[in-house]
Parts: sequence; C-alpha cells; structure tokens
Amino acid sequence: MTSDQTIKRADRAIAATYSRFPVVFIQGKGCTLTDAEGRTYTDFVAGIAVCNLGHAHEGIAKAVAEQARRLVHVSNLYYTEPQTELAELLVEHSFADRVFFCNSGAEANEAAIKLARKYFHDSGAPHRFRIITMEDSFHGRTMVTLAATGQVKIKKGFEPLPDGFDIVPFNDIEAVRNAVSGETCAVMLEPIQGEGGVKCPVQGYLEGLRELCDREGLLLIFDEVQTGMGRTGKLFAYERFALTPDIMTLAKALANGLPMGAMLAKEDVAKAFTPGAHASTFGGTPLVATAAIEVAKALLNEGVLENCQRVGQYFKNQLLSLKARYAFIREVRGEGLLIGVDLTCDGMPVVKSCMERGFLINCAQGHVLRFIPPLIIQEKDIDALIACLDSVFQRLSDQPKEQE
Ligand SMILES: *Cc1c(COP(=O)(O)O)cnc(C)c1O
Repeated sequence: MTSDQTIKRADRAIAATYSRFPVVFIQGKGCTLTDAEGRTYTDFVAGIAVCNLGHAHEGIAKAVAEQARRLVHVSNLYYTEPQTELAELLVEHSFADRVFFCNSGAEANEAAIKLARKYFHDSGAPHRFRIITMEDSFHGRTMVTLAATGQVKIKKGFEPLPDGFDIVPFNDIEAVRNAVSGETCAVMLEPIQGEGGVKCPVQGYLEGLRELCDREGLLLIFDEVQTGMGRTGKLFAYERFALTPDIMTLAKALANGLPMGAMLAKEDVAKAFTPGAHASTFGGTPLVATAAIEVAKALLNEGVLENCQRVGQYFKNQLLSLKARYAFIREVRGEGLLIGVDLTCDGMPVVKSCMERGFLINCAQGHVLRFIPPLIIQEKDIDALIACLDSVFQRLSDQPKEQE
C-alpha cells in the first residue's frame, strides 16, 4: 500500500482528533524510522519521549516475544513474576516504597489524585481534597487530569470539568503559598514542563515547594510521565534536586512503547490504597511488565543515562552556537535529552522543513522546538541535525517577513 492510500483510508475511518503529518511509518531501528516509500528519518521525537531505548530494541523484542508465548495476561486477582520484579526494580531505584500499575500517563495521574484524596480521607481530613497545579502544565486528557491541566485550549468544549484544582503560575512559589487553603491536600507538577514548552524550574523553586508542603502538611506529587525513565540524564528528574516527592507518576518510556503507567508512593501515603480502593484490568500485565524490566535494566546497566547526559550536553552546546547566530532563537533550555528551543516565530515551518530533510522533530506551544530523541542517540546524529537546522534557519532568516 502507498502512503497516499493509507492516509486516505485512515482519514475516513479514524476519529479526527490528530492533525497528522502526511507520512506512514512501517519500520524502525534504533533512532531511524522508515516510511512506506522506503525513505528514512532520524527520529528526534521518539513517540514523544516514549522510545527511550530506540525502536525495535533487541533485548526488549526478545523478552517480549518469549513472554508472549509463556503468559500475556492474568487478572490482578493473582500474582505474577514480571510485575513483582518490575515493582522491586522501581522501588529499589526511587524514593518510593510501593507501585500501582496502570496503562497510561493520565491513568497514573488519576491514581495519584485518588491516592492523595484517600490519604486525607483516611487521616480524618476528608475536607482536604483540592490540589494546586500549574499553568501550562499537562497531566492528561481524561476528565480529571484535564481539570488538573493548566492549558485553557485543550479544556474548551468539555466543561463542566470536575472540581478540585487550583491552577497557579509555574515557577511562582508565592502564588502557591497564596493558593493554599484549609481544603488543599496536595501540590502536583511536572519537575520540567514538557508539553508546556520545556519549561525548567527556577533555582530553589522545587525545594521551596517541598518546604511549603512539609510546613502545611501537603503531599507533593511529581508528574514524571515525560521526565522519568532517564529522559533528563537521571533515572528520575527529581534526583537532580535535593528533595523527594511523596508521589510520582510514570508512563511514556516506562515500557519503551508498550502501554504502561505507574504511580509510586512512600509507604505512609501508599497505605491509603487498601484492597478494593483502586484497580486496573491490564495494569502491570506480564507482557508489558517484561518490557519495562528490560527498559529499567538497560537504563541502569548499559550506560544509557551516561550517554543521555553526555550527548544532551553536546546537543545543547551545538544549539547554543546556533542561538548565537540566529536572532529569532530566544532561548535554549532543558536537561539531558529533553531540550527546547524557544523561537520568536512559528515553529511549525521549521518542523516541516526538517521532515523534508529526513529529521523528525517536535514543536510545543507553537513556538518551542522540542527535541526528545531516543537516549541512545550519538553525537554524529546531533551533528547531522544541527547542519539541517542551520540550513533551515538560514532560509528562514533570508525571508524578509515574519519576525514579530
Ligand atoms: C504525556 C503526558 C501525560 C499523559 O500521558 P498519556 O499516556 O497520554 O495519558 C501526562 N503527563 C505528562 C507530563 C505527559 O508528558
């Protein structure tokens, strides 16, 4: 089938919730994707920070194939070895004591929100149910996670949304302090905002939130759906700071593209999830847990985090040297291989030009080029992308129009 044929059929049969690029991918290997016409692309999107170990990873493919022949699924009414081993790995390498498994980032955040409420309910303070979240945040598309999300444009048309969230500006500790009331139970945020345009916390902000939460008896919830599993060069982004959250959510890269989410918490908080309090049919199913075990082991034992740190720094330096030459680059920011290039102009033409040249990149908030490649990417791939960006930027700055 040609790409055109697939696209025509897809656009007739699939809900039109995505504005897609006109390309059909049929295969991937490492950091490379191949389309139906045999063209190859270097992938700086990685399924939006999902395929952290690259496409068609041998170890994962082998483990998943073997597990598929052994046992794909049993109910969470029973124990399985892969789910147990994965939970131990996550607990051993994080602040947390317990894990609840689900299937997506939104579900992980739902679990975190439910746990926070249940914790205060069980502590004799059921009137404390409100959660403070941040402007420009993204926590998912279910009704409750949408209510928690600080972006007006994706909420439009779905009102009334569930109550219980107070949204304040990101990076403003005073705003959080002012929003705390007798009904507040938690503060929830991404340690680095991903969909919001790779916005990093200012010095002392997260530490200040931790102090505030301790003082007010609030839970601190980190949504690490995008920043987790090595993306910022540490296994979890909170490790970059001198603090731990009380609850953390994971998904995206957790099983390198198989659907999985997780909500992790310290024992004192996790104990509010008693039998029957929450559940998921597929959560932590053996097939997907097997993939996630391979991901965790590769991140911890195969030098992937070190590669992310080294190549991420190299990448950022190269982007900064572009910034020195192009006035429409406002800022280069991010950690590890979660990097944003904030433009004073529309980013979409850049994304399209890069695609024509064989590079997939992403754009957040319309004007922030976002680079989230597999963490196994190499300096030579960065050099190739930088050369591509240079030529695209050159053409952009030759155009007389459009620099607001
Ligand atoms: C992607 C994302 C989500 C939502 O994850 P889904 O799997 O699409 O539900 C939530 N939070 C953050 C920070 C994300 O980047």
